[in-house]
Amino acid sequence: MSFRHKHILGTEQLSREDIELILDTADSFKEINSREIKKVPTLRGKTIINLFYEASTRTRTSFEIAGKRLSADTINISASASSVVKGETLEDTAKNLQAMAPDIIVMRHSASGAPHYLAKRLDCSVINAGDGAHEHPSQALLDMLTMRQVKGRIEGLKVAIIGDIAHSRVARSNLYALTRMGATVRLAGPGTMIPPGIERLGAEVHTDINEAIRDADVIIMLRIQLERQGKTLLPTLREYARFYGLNPQNLKLAKDDAIVMHPGPMNRGVEISSFVADGPQNVILDQVENGVAVRMALLYLVAGGEQAEK
Ligand code: ASP
Repeated sequence: MSFRHKHILGTEQLSREDIELILDTADSFKEINSREIKKVPTLRGKTIINLFYEASTRTRTSFEIAGKRLSADTINISASASSVVKGETLEDTAKNLQAMAPDIIVMRHSASGAPHYLAKRLDCSVINAGDGAHEHPSQALLDMLTMRQVKGRIEGLKVAIIGDIAHSRVARSNLYALTRMGATVRLAGPGTMIPPGIERLGAEVHTDINEAIRDADVIIMLRIQLERQGKTLLPTLREYARFYGLNPQNLKLAKDDAIVMHPGPMNRGVEISSFVADGPQNVILDQVENGVAVRMALLYLVAGGEQAEK
């Protein structure tokens, strides 16, 4: 099956077949990451620019590693060290980068829709590495790869996503992708952090996190996105931790073999206790490991997949 997308802007646009192809391709790349020489010539001669206007540890590093393991030339630009600080517009920055003929731009930006804006204006492929509170497709895909690896399937899983749903691009990308794959998605958080009408996208919505956790197969905990909240949406962090944090007691409500995920960065003691973050049910570093394989798959597929040199 061939991949028909030039850009990866969100999971909203991905069909079930697209998601399966991405996850299968990522699975086939995983083996490369355990070799002693972790490099194949697949994307030799391709140029990838990582254009990051927001802070990132895992996403930026793993896109860079993914490109390098496929032998592409990868260049990183962070806004704070670019001409953005001299007042250049996004469109001008992009056109200048385009003039250097990259094949793929991987972009993170605080404005929802920024990668879509670039995709309309540039010749190269654009991959969204997180746009505001909108989407973070590669995160949802690596989450699903991890679920599939541990649970053997995605269809039929009960997945609880807990925390600051309103400002989380991770929640939105997972919601689109998981419902498309036949999982049940339960969203939970304080009323001020649940966007009105989100149930129309096919989620169950709870303000009591125990209801979301009960019998769940997978629990995804989210950080409070203080950088995206105009005003304080909670009384105190201590109170938040008490009512909306995952701890060994409320985790017992989930299935015995439930797994705990977090996209990072974690705020230990707030949305997740260290007992759980480091406990036997956590798969948080497996997510990070799978992030490299998923990003290799995305770069490979938008670069032409089967047509790319093997
Ligand atoms: N790393 C994820 C993101 O960029 C989650 C977070 O920052 O809390 O959206």
